[in-house]
Amino acid sequence: MEFYDLHTHQMFLEDNDDPYHSCIFDVYPLEFEVAKDSHHRHAFSCGIHPWYSEDSDTQMAYLNEIASNPRIVAIGETGLDKLKGPSFEVQIPVFKKHIELSEKLHKPVIIHCVKAWEQLIQIKKEIKPTQPWIIHGYRGKPELTKRLIHEGFLFSIGDQINIESMQLIPVDALFCETDEDEMSIKEVYFQTSQAVNMDMKVFSDRIAQNIRRIFPTVQPPKPYYPKEVEEEI
Ligand SMILES: [Zn+2]
Repeated sequence: MEFYDLHTHQMFLEDNDDPYHSCIFDVYPLEFEVAKDSHHRHAFSCGIHPWYSEDSDTQMAYLNEIASNPRIVAIGETGLDKLKGPSFEVQIPVFKKHIELSEKLHKPVIIHCVKAWEQLIQIKKEIKPTQPWIIHGYRGKPELTKRLIHEGFLFSIGDQINIESMQLIPVDALFCETDEDEMSIKEVYFQTSQAVNMDMKVFSDRIAQNIRRIFPTVQPPKPYYPKEVEEEI
């Protein structure tokens, strides 16, 4: 099995040193230089979180400079949050700058969205992006899920899960992630595969296919075979 962590902030977690999974580390523009040299095997997403989108001109200017670096495989996390951060008047233009960059560089967007689904759907309809938009930490209810599938969004699933919604999402629109959570990526894969009634091996193969389709440059991890690894230990 191959495990991919689509979105994690846990760059210094010991678990992330094991060779059996590959990460897309989420970093701020100004963190990227140091991070890329200390994590050779993993890829990065880079953007300005909506919570901190106020006075983000310096970070944004720097993001524009570095975003074409091949180690940065996605733009974000960016997005909209109704409960935290500055007003939408500040958040929306910053989000749109990320989208512009994503379209220009042909890199997918990783989206943080809290209680701003109407705005998010509206912006997608308006822009008609060519790049995939992946909603990270997704745990929305079935009604919302149906609408988002219809609008062509992709979904990254973490430790919190809405089982009913999981059954609606096509497997080729799914990824797994640890974000800032305590659950390991293997545990997230296990929980998610159960939620979609799939054998974990078959599920992980499908997710690996999604990664190769959307992120062809992400390095595969060392395949994990539980028995062999136990013997090594
Ligand atoms: Zn995050």
